[in-house]
Amino acid sequence: MKIAFIGLGIMGGPMAKNLLKAGHTLRVYDRNAQALENMKSTGAILCSCAAETVEKVEAVITMLPNSPHVRSVMLEDDRLAELMPGTATFIDCSSISPAASREIAGKLAEYGIDMLDAPVSGGQPKAVDGTLAFMVGGREEVFLRFRPLLEAMGSSAVLCGDVGAGNVTKLCNQTIVAVHIAALAEALQLGQMCGVQPQKIFEAIRGGLAGSTVMNAKAPMMMDQNFRPGFRMDLHIKDLNNVVEAAGDVDAPIPLTLQVLEMMKVLHHDGDGACDHSALLRYYQKLTGEVLHH
Ligand code: NAD
Repeated sequence: MKIAFIGLGIMGGPMAKNLLKAGHTLRVYDRNAQALENMKSTGAILCSCAAETVEKVEAVITMLPNSPHVRSVMLEDDRLAELMPGTATFIDCSSISPAASREIAGKLAEYGIDMLDAPVSGGQPKAVDGTLAFMVGGREEVFLRFRPLLEAMGSSAVLCGDVGAGNVTKLCNQTIVAVHIAALAEALQLGQMCGVQPQKIFEAIRGGLAGSTVMNAKAPMMMDQNFRPGFRMDLHIKDLNNVVEAAGDVDAPIPLTLQVLEMMKVLHHDGDGACDHSALLRYYQKLTGEVLHH
C-alpha cells in the first residue's frame, strides 16, 4: 500500500520502519530535520514538506504530539484534507482529545475522506518490536480494511466505537496508569518510612492482587532513581488535560485524575517534565526529604 507518514519521533519513527518491513511504500515527513534524517536508508521516500507526502497515497498516517499539531497538519497550515486523494483514509495514531478527533473527522467528511482515530499503548520498546496495542474509533468497514496495516505495527487492534472512541479509550488508559503510578510511589515511600525495605514490599506483593504491569515496570525504576523516559511526564500532563476536557464535556467526576494532574504540574514547574512519569515519586521525596532506596 502507498502510505504518507507524518511525525517520526520516538514512536512514529519505529512504527514507520515496521510498515516498510511489511512491504508498504512510505512517503515520510517530520518538521524536525534529525527525525527525518533517521529514516534515511530505510527505503522510505523522504519529503521536504507534509504536502509532498500525500501524492497518490491510499492512507495518511500521523503520529504527532497533540490535537493542535494534528489540526495544523490536516486542516490549518498544511491543509492535507484538501490535498490528499479523496479516496485515501486518514489514520491518526496520536493521543489527542476525542473532541478534536471528531471535529477533524467531520471536516474530512466534507471531502468524502474516512478517518480512524487509532492511538496506541506500549511505548517505544513495543513500537520498535511492532507489538503496540491499538484502540480504534471509526466505521467497522474502514477498520477492517486497514486492520492489517495496524497489525504490521502492533499485536492487537480493537475497534472501540465511532471516531473519537479510540482516544476516549486512550484517556481511560492514561488515567489508570497515572493514578496507579502515584499509588505505587505513595505506598513504597510509606513502607520505607515505616521501616520496611521497598524491594521486599515489591517482592512480597507483586504476585498478589496489587501486582501489575505498571508495578513491574515502574517499581524498579523508582528504587533505582532512574527517571530516564520512557514516557515523559509532560506528555502525560497533556493526556490528563485532555481527560479534564473530555470529562467536562459529559460532567464525569474525576477526583483522582485531578489530584495526580496537580502533582505532575508541581513536578513540571520544578523542572521534572522531561523525566519519565515514574518521577511522580519525586513529589513524595520532595515533601519528606527522604529518598527511596532498595
Ligand atoms: P515525539 O515528540 O517524539 O514525536 C512527535 C514528532 O512529531 C516529532 O518528531 C515532531 O517533530 C513531529 N511534529 C510535530 N509537529 C509537526 C508538524 N506540524 N509537522 C511535522 N512533524 C511534526 O512524541 P512521541 O513520543 O513519538 O509521541 C507521539 C504521540 O504518541 C503522542 O501523542 C504521545 O502521547 C503518544 N504516545 C507516546 C508514547 C511514548 O511512550 N512515547 C506511548 C504511547 C503513545
